[in-house]
Amino acid sequence: MSEQKSFHMSPEEFRRQGHAVVDWIADYQSRVESFPVLSRVQPGEIRSQLPAAAPERGEGFEQILGDMERVVLPGITHWQSPNFYAYFPANASGPAILGDLLSAGLGVQGMLWSTSPACTEVETRVLDWLVPMLGLPEKFLSTGSGGGVIQDTASSASLCALLAARERTTGFASNRKGCDGRLVAYCSTQTHSSIEKAMKIAGMGSDNLRHIEVDENFAMRPEALARQIELDMKAGLVPCFVCATVGTTSSNAVDPVREIGRICRERKLWLHVDSAMSGTAALCPEFRFINDGVELADSYTFNPHKWMFTNFDCNVFYVAERKHLIETLSILPEYLRNQATESGAVIDYRDWHIQLGRRFRSLKLWFVIRHYGIEGLQHHIREHVRLAQEFAGWVRGDSRFELAAPAQLNLVCFRLRAGEHTNQDQANQDRANQALMERLNNSGDLYLTHTKLDGKVTLRFCVGQTNTQARHVERAWERIQEEAGRV
Ligand SMILES: *Cc1c(COP(=O)(O)O)cnc(C)c1O
Repeated sequence: MSEQKSFHMSPEEFRRQGHAVVDWIADYQSRVESFPVLSRVQPGEIRSQLPAAAPERGEGFEQILGDMERVVLPGITHWQSPNFYAYFPANASGPAILGDLLSAGLGVQGMLWSTSPACTEVETRVLDWLVPMLGLPEKFLSTGSGGGVIQDTASSASLCALLAARERTTGFASNRKGCDGRLVAYCSTQTHSSIEKAMKIAGMGSDNLRHIEVDENFAMRPEALARQIELDMKAGLVPCFVCATVGTTSSNAVDPVREIGRICRERKLWLHVDSAMSGTAALCPEFRFINDGVELADSYTFNPHKWMFTNFDCNVFYVAERKHLIETLSILPEYLRNQATESGAVIDYRDWHIQLGRRFRSLKLWFVIRHYGIEGLQHHIREHVRLAQEFAGWVRGDSRFELAAPAQLNLVCFRLRAGEHTNQDQANQDRANQALMERLNNSGDLYLTHTKLDGKVTLRFCVGQTNTQARHVERAWERIQEEAGRV
């Protein structure tokens, strides 16, 4: 018999090419600083370098990997550059990348406990580890009535929280009959846009989301929240969900979770806490003030894929009463029936999120926590906060600039002042700040992004990239000062 033809990559070739890929990644890590942080390609430039149709015949792997260098790299904005200060970090690390590679190598689909028990049980254990690591309330532990689950993003986790709140409020009737349009949810004017999107997806309608006003520090005003809830109740509406943010995206404001929690308790509203980036800071006891009142929350979410050295995607979502979440999302078709599930002795995470299928994402998180240890994680988070605080001090000390919001952790919001250096006119001040940002970003030396606070263009300097050190932040401030003299 002749040997069957195969197009597959053999284990031996995989070993050889795999070594080459790991070498490529290691080289990338050592030269990432040499690239302009923000990609300079024009729209369509990358696509035009790819053939219009797929290859008829397979190509050599060397050729494929070569195109990473030639075609892909120019179109990369380098999130892993230590000079990346834009948006929020999406930092990665060696142990996380290797954990993700092993997850791909195993290729398991962990929708049910029985489809790979380790995929479920490592996740449950690691998420239980994180509760005391972050000083979160014990009710989020899987050993009690709560528990945690890894989701793709904070947006998905918040949507699940909203769905569970909707169902708890309506006695699980809206799941069957649809939403009656009277349910109302609350957030602040600074809340992440994912909550508004969740209202649309949940069928509750974005008009039924109330954006509560904030104080001078951009934190939600609890008395305004209480007032709005009363108004809505008088109007015959049904308040159901509040999202409090610990570390808003624009300015890192921390909503007063304890007071908001009291209001939610009195009126039986679901309290969800979104701490997507800043949650990681609570690894350090000195920053745990941000978690004040979280014990009043029904659910909580943060992203190890932002600031905890775990490459995208890896979101962590906790609930205090898992039965509400599971009853909201559980469906059991015949083809998924199995003994372990029927026994009730296992967790089937497919009931904890929107999609059915799931990757073995806890591997990378497990690797990160074991590689760094709590001590290593604390060390780097502390250092990021220290560098951001130092930067804030330099801004305060330069009369051309002003801080635009309190800088409590790793985000500094600042801008060129109106006045002698720019015209008094608001539009001119905005233009000057915009021009400063563009000059910096076009230089390739660093990358930062903007927001608007009190209607004014504000620059955001967010320290959290895995390899950002003092020399990078010092250089960034030098560059900011230089370019400020040119706008
Ligand atoms: C980044 C961020 C989000 C969105 O995170 P995803 O994981 O991309 O969905 C939500 N809320 C806050 C406060 C954020 O900072």
